[in-house]
Amino acid sequence: MPNKKQKLKIFQTPRGTHDILPQDQKYWDRIRTVSQTLASYYGFERIDTPHLESTDLFLHTVGPTSDIVEKQMYSFKTRGGDALTLRPEGTAPIARSYIENGFLNLPQPVKLYYRGSFFRHESPQRGRYREFHQWGLELLGEESAIADAEIFQVCSLFLSELGLKDILFYVNSVGCRECRPKYRSALSGYYRSRVRGLCKDCKRRYKDNPLRLLDCKEEKCVTVKKSAPQILDHLCEACKNHFTVLLEFLDEIGVAYMLNPYLVRGLDYYSRTVFEIASTYVAASEPEVAREALPSINAENRNAGDEKKEEDEEENVVTEVPIKEEKAGKEPLALGGGGRYDYLVELLGGRPTPGVGMALGMERLAYAMKQQQVKIPASSRQKLFFVHLGELAKKKSFKIIEMLRRANIAIAESLGKDSIKSQLKLADRAASEYALILGQKEAIDGTVIIREMSSGTQETVLQEKLIEILKQKLRR
Ligand code: ATP
Ligand code: MG
Repeated sequence: MPNKKQKLKIFQTPRGTHDILPQDQKYWDRIRTVSQTLASYYGFERIDTPHLESTDLFLHTVGPTSDIVEKQMYSFKTRGGDALTLRPEGTAPIARSYIENGFLNLPQPVKLYYRGSFFRHESPQRGRYREFHQWGLELLGEESAIADAEIFQVCSLFLSELGLKDILFYVNSVGCRECRPKYRSALSGYYRSRVRGLCKDCKRRYKDNPLRLLDCKEEKCVTVKKSAPQILDHLCEACKNHFTVLLEFLDEIGVAYMLNPYLVRGLDYYSRTVFEIASTYVAASEPEVAREALPSINAENRNAGDEKKEEDEEENVVTEVPIKEEKAGKEPLALGGGGRYDYLVELLGGRPTPGVGMALGMERLAYAMKQQQVKIPASSRQKLFFVHLGELAKKKSFKIIEMLRRANIAIAESLGKDSIKSQLKLADRAASEYALILGQKEAIDGTVIIREMSSGTQETVLQEKLIEILKQKLRR
């Protein structure tokens, strides 16, 4: 027991993590349902891989010069001495599983989807967490551009089914083993005389991995990038053809895309197609609801405990950008990204197998849904609310509720509340279409009242007829 003078520690979520609260679950449910339905329809099967993987898996694939490996991995040694990492991304684990489970022997391509938590030790800001959620698709064993197009298609259908507008795909090709080295030399040549004007990170990138110079968001580096040679001018015939075919498919399926010749993406394993998906929606004024949608760590609200101290001591700590200064809703919001990874399986010791995939950030999707005030279809909402009045009715409540559950009809209730007024208020707040009212008289008669919330009209029906009548009403 702490002694009285000792101040009790108030626990908060660890920096960069957040609760997904009940009021937000409807957005998350919708994302899960729509992604699952679409992915299954297009023949993608669900896969779940562990949250922990060997650290080497990411070192070998994501690449030692990537942001993830350089500074974002949660890596540790176990008591048994194994070097493990909390997964920062989903593709390398799936390639590992493909090899480990002999997916090669299945009819190809193998089409998989996943969703879950990922971990990166980032500087927390709105929309950027240390534990975040993604759902993604992977299609392994098909080299042709139709596979890339299928990923774009499912992704684009998903976003429109979700009700999001103003979606734009930024597309590029990063070539293959043949043409990329040539481009890399051209790029190094261009930067040779310009290195001095670059940021500290880019000076290092120039030596380690010049392609990543194109990834930098520092203003002075962006200026230099503007006249850098473009990879599309250096693609070999095969890569050029692959890219052209993909763009033809995209035109055909009507995906809105824009070429971005400097898009390379942070991960080393990409080849040929790379893309990012953004919402370009600009809210006239950002609705209050959207602000709550991305719970973030408010430095001021945190107690200045040990953890804060630890954070301040870290290098590169960026305190959260205050909402006012942030151009929230004005800049394109990155929702996801992906690309082709034809060498990944081979890199992990498997038989050479081409692949292509994408991942969408679920926090960002939920945010965009709120920002655009997307309506969640009524079918996934509770349409009924149970209201009781009097002791006898209260006792009989469970019987009615269980009758509905067996008939697969969802109903909300507030059995702890006795006043009919407050129960009806809750029914209203839940946007229920009907209230089922059970009073003393009804409980004795074996009847129940169905009240239409919008009009206030009521009818009394026999309890044994209730399911049949409700089914008819709810079908409309
Ligand atoms: P960025 O360049 O913004 O760091 P990224 O290239 O690291 O993005 P990906 O690895 O491609 O991002 O992840 C795909 C999507 O997952 C992103 O577009 C974003 O929606 C989401 N995502 C990535 N990192 C985070 C994070 N730390 N917090 C929340 N969402 C994230
Ligand atoms: Mg990142």
